[in-house]
Amino acid sequence: MPDLLSALKCMSGEITYIWFDEPEPEKNMLSIFDGRFPVYFTVIFIVMAFILGAVIGSFLNVVIIRTQNKEPITGAHNRSHCMSCGTQLKAIDLIPILSYIFLGGKCRTCKAKISPRYWIVELTTAVAFTLSIITLGLSFSLLMAFVLAAALIVASGIDIDKMEIPYGCSIVIAGLGVIATVASIFVYDPTKAASVFNMPWYEHLIGAAAISVPFAIFALFGAMGGGDVHLMAGAGLLLGWKNAIPAAAIGIILGAIGGSIELLSIPKGTKKLAKEKALDIAGKWYDSQKENGITVLEGKTEAIYGSIFKGKSDIEPECIDQKCWKGTPDIASLNNMLDAELSDITKFGISIVLDDKKVVKVNCKRQVVFGPYLSVGIFAGFLIGDMIVSWYTKMF
Ligand SMILES: [Zn+2]
Repeated sequence: MPDLLSALKCMSGEITYIWFDEPEPEKNMLSIFDGRFPVYFTVIFIVMAFILGAVIGSFLNVVIIRTQNKEPITGAHNRSHCMSCGTQLKAIDLIPILSYIFLGGKCRTCKAKISPRYWIVELTTAVAFTLSIITLGLSFSLLMAFVLAAALIVASGIDIDKMEIPYGCSIVIAGLGVIATVASIFVYDPTKAASVFNMPWYEHLIGAAAISVPFAIFALFGAMGGGDVHLMAGAGLLLGWKNAIPAAAIGIILGAIGGSIELLSIPKGTKKLAKEKALDIAGKWYDSQKENGITVLEGKTEAIYGSIFKGKSDIEPECIDQKCWKGTPDIASLNNMLDAELSDITKFGISIVLDDKKVVKVNCKRQVVFGPYLSVGIFAGFLIGDMIVSWYTKMF
């Protein structure tokens, strides 16, 4: 059994393996193939990591869906059933990744199409776990990588569905950051290769600040959401600034490419149309509110914020300052009216500016889901951040 000291040394990168107290091999992309184990043994580890990832991925699917529905993640588990015909799924239909392939993506009973998202989440988790074990070997960092991958996949899944990154995911990542920071205080050794556990402790704190400040500025200009900011703050703490910079760079570059592709895929004039429709609806809604004596107080222009996403509008009552209103505006009816008219609109941020007499204007803004891109960057930063930096500097 590893004792505490060797566990700490392991974290620092002084020794890579808890179980084998041998000199650390030179860090490279394929830490697991360092000749420490016979090749067949290594292959078994990699296959095990893939299977573990697929199984954890199937659990993450549950987390992604239940978190959104505000259901408890643990607790009474209804056995999975087909969303179309309600048939309970047999054990053979619940094997991660494989069942979907064997069933051809259709329900065994009613042949309804099964959403590929379950399969995609399982495969993504399996691949992330596999890459982790290949780059990190059997080390404490590997456990951290598994937890990090899970948190990032849940954050991305929820961001894609709801355009928000839950605090829980950022807190888990910041928690890993605290572990890494504390470990750095005790075991930092400048003569050893830099790693997440082997850097001066303050580099973690600089990482959190250096990354979250520019992202907060992006968010102020509406280029990113608040979720992206707390995600990157947690990631910056974990990675330290030297790894956080390539992580953020990868996330932003991928996001810019992905966002442009998304933008190009939207028919021209969609935004103008959405804006016109929303202005019309907001006007009608405000008229109905005024009939009930509910208006914005004189001299105030209280904006209403929200988003329209996949034809479902989500204007939050919390985004309205009650002090600016005479009476309580009926936001539910506004949401219903927008839903009815804008069912073909996907992903727009919306804000409505109104004064005591009329709706002044409606702004519609394209929103890009940045979470998944940032997650790829963060994970790359964790696994190979230092290598990315050295490749980059060698280029010049
Ligand atoms: Zn079915």
